[in-house]
Amino acid sequence: MPARDHFHSLMQIGPVQIGTHRDRHGQTEHAAVCTADRCGWSSDFTSQTAAQLAARTHRCKIR
Ligand SMILES: [Zn+2]
Repeated sequence: MPARDHFHSLMQIGPVQIGTHRDRHGQTEHAAVCTADRCGWSSDFTSQTAAQLAARTHRCKIR
């Protein structure tokens, strides 16, 4: 996973952190990142609602 500049963590849902960052076009993107070791799941969303939904439905293989 590439390092994210200016990543601001907003909330945590289970093992998943949701934060915002700017993409290369200067738009705010909402990123959901699983903090569990060896999971490595992360995804970008255009809305915080979508990121929260993905965080809640993320099924982490690492328990
Ligand atoms: Zn996970």
